[in-house]
Amino acid sequence: MTFSLRAHAEEHAHWSYNDHAGTGPAHWGALDRDSRLCKTGLQQSPIALYTRSAKRLSDREIALHFGTAKGELVNNGHTIQFNVADATTNAVAYKGVSYALAQFHFHTPSEHRLDGKSFPMEMHLVNKDASGKITVVGVFIKQGRKNAALPGLWDQLPAPNAAPKAGEVDLAALLPASHKAMVYAGSLTTPPCSEEVNWIVMEQPIEMSRQQIQAFQKLFRDNHRPLQKEHGRKVLEESAM
Ligand SMILES: [Zn+2]
Repeated sequence: MTFSLRAHAEEHAHWSYNDHAGTGPAHWGALDRDSRLCKTGLQQSPIALYTRSAKRLSDREIALHFGTAKGELVNNGHTIQFNVADATTNAVAYKGVSYALAQFHFHTPSEHRLDGKSFPMEMHLVNKDASGKITVVGVFIKQGRKNAALPGLWDQLPAPNAAPKAGEVDLAALLPASHKAMVYAGSLTTPPCSEEVNWIVMEQPIEMSRQQIQAFQKLFRDNHRPLQKEHGRKVLEESAM
């Protein structure tokens, strides 16, 4: 299945996070035929993750190859997203397949929960293989020190429909020091909620200052999808290289 996430964001411009407006998460499954999985899917994301019940992956099946990424920061009306220009240099290897980084974006509050805990924000690094299959790396963000890996870019977040802002991000510095992660089979957390998405959710959160978190929340008060049913899925734990 090959498709462009950006194209989908435009096709589904009528969805929102506001259930009162009739276009929020509770209504996504009825938006159109493409989005039915949002309601009927059995492998939907996000879910509540528990480190205690996770089974350990026997092999080292994940390797993160993240360095510097050049691209553009945009406000697509649903989130702040950094579209990577040089996707080939940043990638995730998972079960022998390489997924190139296409974009990363943010949610507030966090979509996944870790051991019952929610975080102020969550970052999603969206990676695709040659056939369009997706592996997302999720990173929790807690309030703490000012994050220096988002220089300049974060100081003036683009308003909706503002011109894209070109920049560079050191992803190696942005990711947490520990690469211990929870791994499971899920979906996109926005319409059309496509499944067969590999999720790698890092256990150690990164930090942003209160000002940095508030700068995002000024633009997006709440852009998280509620927790979905597990439907008996197995969650594995792995230390990515
Ligand atoms: Zn996301």
